[in-house]
Amino acid sequence: MKHLKPLLLAFAFSACIVSPSFAEDAASPAAPEMRLYRLACGEIGVTDLNVFSDTDRYLGQAKDIVASCYLIKHGDDWVLWDTGLPDATPKVADDNTGSPFKLSLKETLTEQLVKIGIKPEDIDYVGISHGHFDHVGGANAFSNAKLIMQKTEYDFMTTQPDKARAAHMDSELISSFVGPEKEAQRMLLSGDADIFGDGTLKAIVLPGHTPGHMALLVNLPETGPVVLSGDQWHFHENHESNGVPSFNFDRADTLASSDKLNELIKNHKAKLIIQHEPKDNEALPKLPEYLK
Ligand SMILES: [Zn+2]
Repeated sequence: MKHLKPLLLAFAFSACIVSPSFAEDAASPAAPEMRLYRLACGEIGVTDLNVFSDTDRYLGQAKDIVASCYLIKHGDDWVLWDTGLPDATPKVADDNTGSPFKLSLKETLTEQLVKIGIKPEDIDYVGISHGHFDHVGGANAFSNAKLIMQKTEYDFMTTQPDKARAAHMDSELISSFVGPEKEAQRMLLSGDADIFGDGTLKAIVLPGHTPGHMALLVNLPETGPVVLSGDQWHFHENHESNGVPSFNFDRADTLASSDKLNELIKNHKAKLIIQHEPKDNEALPKLPEYLK
């Protein structure tokens, strides 16, 4: 069985070269239309960048980063990946909170979806990389959708509220999906998962930042494979230096997950989008445009 997959791939590849029209005809009924939109889900002015290093790499430094959400069209399905800062975040950051994070949100997710003619009830799935407030903030607006999370993360948030709060997670921000009556609205994953079974969207489990943190591999027909990082890394320098934020849940798991994601990116020749990195997100099409 080990050799079956490479053989099939080799056959598919040679079929593409010998007879492209046959390959396209054969592939089209099964290949869903894919689009990837980037939504601006907040700005985060980090006044003490050293919180992103458990080895004091950034003493005395500050940096502006962004919060990002992504909307993926998969055939007739709409999948939201992360939901950004809470809707109640001020449009202009309050400088007097005492927090190392100055938060602002110019437009809610719902307001941005209007630009592409989508209403919150049109969203079929809400995938959450992890439970931090800057990733689940807008989730409750999508109460008709199915929540996709790692089971470890969901259980941690909902069954150990004190520990979760200490790890900067609040299950109230996903309350639309919690409770026995909402069980059918949760797709809880145990490890890596091919969401639609067709290779287009793959959840990659990467524990360490939080107990059940994950990234998403999106296979786009023209752009090719793209990795949405979750918070495995927060900006380019922190990726290149293989750094571990001071607030991560587990250091050894974080480093193992960094190895895993770097290897996967290499093997797929994937484009990495670090969700909090301004440069990666500025380079993406602006709404209503998208990658395909
Ligand atoms: Zn984050």
